[in-house]
Amino acid sequence: MSETISRIGIIGCGLMGAGIAEVCAKAGSDVIVVESDDERAKAGRARLEKSLTRAQERGKIDDAAAVLERVQVVTEIASLADRQLVIEAIVEDEQAKVDLFARLDEVVTDPEAILASNTSSIPIVNIAGATSRPQQVMGVHFFNPVPVLRLVELVPALTTADATLERAREYVEGTLGKEAIVCQDRAGFVVNSLLIPFILSAVRMYEGGFATAEDIDKGMVLGAAHPQGPLALADLIGLDTCLSAAESMYAEYKEPLHAPPALLRRMVSAGHLGRKSGKGFYDYS
Ligand code: NAD
Repeated sequence: MSETISRIGIIGCGLMGAGIAEVCAKAGSDVIVVESDDERAKAGRARLEKSLTRAQERGKIDDAAAVLERVQVVTEIASLADRQLVIEAIVEDEQAKVDLFARLDEVVTDPEAILASNTSSIPIVNIAGATSRPQQVMGVHFFNPVPVLRLVELVPALTTADATLERAREYVEGTLGKEAIVCQDRAGFVVNSLLIPFILSAVRMYEGGFATAEDIDKGMVLGAAHPQGPLALADLIGLDTCLSAAESMYAEYKEPLHAPPALLRRMVSAGHLGRKSGKGFYDYS
C-alpha cells in the first residue's frame, strides 16, 4: 500500500504552476516550487501571494498566510528529492521537458514518486522515455484558472502503470477535490480536441464574413446556452495559445478541422493575442 501523497513538487511558477501550487497548498499539502532563477522565483511567489490574498478578501479562504507557509519557492531542483508527486509546468517545449525529466529522475529519491507533466500537447510517452521509471510518469492536465476550474485530465502514456494512474486520481480527487477524467496520450486530450475545432470554425465564419464576431458569439450564448461565445473565449485563452494547440493537433491528425485559419495566424503575428494584449476579436483597451 503506497503512502498517502502529501509532499508535492512543482516545476515552473508561471500561470499554471502558481495555480497548481495554490490548490495543493490549500488542500494541506507541503509544496516546493522550483523556478529557473531568483527573479522568477520572486515573481512566482508574488503571483501566488496576490491570488491567495484575493481569495481571502473574497471569503474563499480564512488564512492566506497559513496557506503560503506551506509553499516554498526555490531555484534548486535537488530540493525535490523527497517529493511523492512532482508536477512539471514549465514552457511548452519538448526538449526542455525531456531534459528536465532526465534531471528529475536523478534527484527524486522516493522509489514510488509520480513524475507528472501539465503539458497540453507534448506526447507523455516522449517525456516518460527520458526517465528510468516510465511506469511512474503521466500527464496531469489542469485548466486555467486552476483555483476555479474543477477539471483535471489524467493522461496515462502507453508506459504508465495502472497503480500510478490510480494514485494520481486519489490525490487529484480525494485531496484536491477536483474532478478527473481519463484520456489517452493524444494531442488535445478530451477538452481541447473538442474545443479547438469549435473555436477554429468560429474564426473561419468570421474570416469569411459569414457574420460579425458579436453575432457569432451571441448565437452560441443565446442559442446553445454557452456561458460565452467562441471568439470571446478564444480572446480569453489567448490567440497564440489557440494557434499552438491547433498546430499540435494538426501535426498529429492531419485533419482539416484542426488547420489554423490564416486570419488566426495573422492576428498572432500582429500581436493581437486577445485579452492579454488588449486586442483580439474584441478590443479590451
Ligand atoms: P508560463 O510561461 O506562465 O510559466 C512557465 C514558467 O516555467 C515560467 O515562470 C518559467 O520561468 C518557468 N520555467 C521555464 N523553464 C524552467 C525550468 N527549467 N525550471 C524551472 N522553471 C522553469 O506557462 P504556463 O501557461 O503556466 O504553462 C505551463 C505549462 O502548462 C505548459 O506546458 C502549458 O502547455 C501547460 N498548460 C497551460 C495552460 C494555460 O492555459 N496557460 C493550460 C493547461 C496546461
